[in-house]
Amino acid sequence: MANMNTLFYQDQYRREFDASVLSCREDKKGYAVILDQTAFYPEGGGQPADHGFLNDIRVTDVREKDDVIIHYTDRPLAEGTAVHGIIDWDRRFDFMQNHTGEHIVSGIIHQLHGYENVGFHMGETIQVDYSGMLSDEEIREVERKANEIIWTNQPVIITYPSEEERENIPYRSKKELSGTVRIVTVLNADICACCGTHVKTAGEVGLIKIISHEKHKGGIRMELLCGRRAFDYVCMLQDQNHDISVRLCTPMNQTAEGTRKLEETMQEKSRQLTEMTALYLQDRAEKLEKSELVIDVLKGIDRNSIRRYADDLVKVKGCGTAAVLNRSDNGPFEYVIITSKDIGLRKLAKDLNMRLNGRGGGSDEMIQGTFSASEEEIRLVLQEIFAA
Ligand SMILES: [Zn+2]
Repeated sequence: MANMNTLFYQDQYRREFDASVLSCREDKKGYAVILDQTAFYPEGGGQPADHGFLNDIRVTDVREKDDVIIHYTDRPLAEGTAVHGIIDWDRRFDFMQNHTGEHIVSGIIHQLHGYENVGFHMGETIQVDYSGMLSDEEIREVERKANEIIWTNQPVIITYPSEEERENIPYRSKKELSGTVRIVTVLNADICACCGTHVKTAGEVGLIKIISHEKHKGGIRMELLCGRRAFDYVCMLQDQNHDISVRLCTPMNQTAEGTRKLEETMQEKSRQLTEMTALYLQDRAEKLEKSELVIDVLKGIDRNSIRRYADDLVKVKGCGTAAVLNRSDNGPFEYVIITSKDIGLRKLAKDLNMRLNGRGGGSDEMIQGTFSASEEEIRLVLQEIFAA
């Protein structure tokens, strides 16, 4: 854990500070700068590093090694230089809101269900793994109780109890700890050993939303968003729902019902279309001359209907071989060829595909696939092969 004298532990709201450069050396991550004091939080405890500036030089990462905080910059700073440090506050406050929010959720899950936080990652979302499973209702209850901690603006208290004092504190911790331990308490929600930066009162977290959950290694993996991120997320959902509601001409609180009705309408239309296609193809089959080889070219008909049509031409109409082509837009021709003749259709498919730039196959009774050739070319080849 970083030295308790560091400025971000004295005052986690400190955005600017003055310091002098103790050392600067180049390494593979850029220039590694060590200062006599700093407000830059180094990556740790699941919380990403602060970014910002030292004078006009960008700080791109901050790490801690052997109790020393190392600032990585894109340009060098001479030893002894006086620097003014500025923390990228939007980034840091976002981490404070989300880290404290995570503690509240983890504390409440621990209180209600006894599950441990066994994995924590702050990225695009806050991802947390818990050691047991929760139902949808239980998750909603956790979310509501977590937000109640915000509404009642519970204080967040940092303490450094001694080893003896700690024996009587029921705090959460991922590992056995010795020496000085920093305990973060969100009153009525959580007590946890943590080195991160936290807001002073739960009210500053603003809002906690659990946005997804899935089974993970015998427990549950949750994604949550707090503070500004949760607000942005709710705005995004509202925009989407507004768009859906305008398109469906349905009030925003009835879009699910509106979508269900739309789905029903679509299914009904699809059923009608299938019926009408069947009638159309039946009529077309009746009007065709019965012959040993019939080649028919259709447009925009679904594959099932084409297959049924080719089947009817052979089995009902009594044609020897039916080759039905169908084209949607300007793509390749779909084909279905059905025969009642013993001509080794499966083998013929290879020959057809080779000559007509096609793909597909099937059995000796039926083959299907696509031809990438012109209608004239296809007709000529089919005549040549099947009329023989
Ligand atoms: Zn923490």
